[in-house]
Amino acid sequence: MKQKETLSTTLLKDEHIDLSNLLIEEMGDEHKASSVDTPLRADAFDATDEEKIAAIAPHFKAIMEILGMDLLDDSLRGTPLRVAKMYVKELFQGLNPANMPSMTLFENKFQYNEMLVEKNINFYTNCEHHFVPFFGKAHVAYISSGKVIGLSKLNRLVEYFSKRPQVQERLTMQIGKALQTVLQTQDVAVMMDAKHLCVSSRGVKDDSSNTITSFFGGKFQDEQKKMEFLKYIDINE
Ligand SMILES: [Zn+2]
Repeated sequence: MKQKETLSTTLLKDEHIDLSNLLIEEMGDEHKASSVDTPLRADAFDATDEEKIAAIAPHFKAIMEILGMDLLDDSLRGTPLRVAKMYVKELFQGLNPANMPSMTLFENKFQYNEMLVEKNINFYTNCEHHFVPFFGKAHVAYISSGKVIGLSKLNRLVEYFSKRPQVQERLTMQIGKALQTVLQTQDVAVMMDAKHLCVSSRGVKDDSSNTITSFFGGKFQDEQKKMEFLKYIDINE
């Protein structure tokens, strides 16, 4: 709290005062997202992965040094490059649309017209406001419009959007909207149930709370379909 006051006071003293900075600070604290699309710059993918890794490593090294860590220590020496690789190649590789999994559609030969539910899909992502993990289960459902998709593709899609700095509401909507596009139907539902380390390991240090978000499109806005979906996933299980 004290840090925030200091920041605000500094900003107010500056003659080029930018009030949007204060609002952005508040927004991050409250874990609100500004839009459904991940905010990306136009030049986001001008550099290659290797160039990004080489550029991030010295910055991470600088953070560790400022914290007072001795980078000559054998245990720490490799950390900056290791973190840079992990960011670009693993945790945040879903920022690049080139890494979107291929989504092959099949004809719905069985004429199965009921909802298909894939529940308890594990996901791990990182909060874009604190860069610490939030993770949990995703439950996804759709009603075929004549096309179906391999079940593992639902997991892959959840994983792809999870590998970005994220906000749970946005993650839920991105998965829902992508499924609507891929499956060529509005009839898609997504529910995500997650624990946020920025809530449990710091800040209010609430270890027992979960955050639940949902996306209901097309027929799933119908109360009966919604209840059927919720009954299938029974998140208290
Ligand atoms: Zn956070």
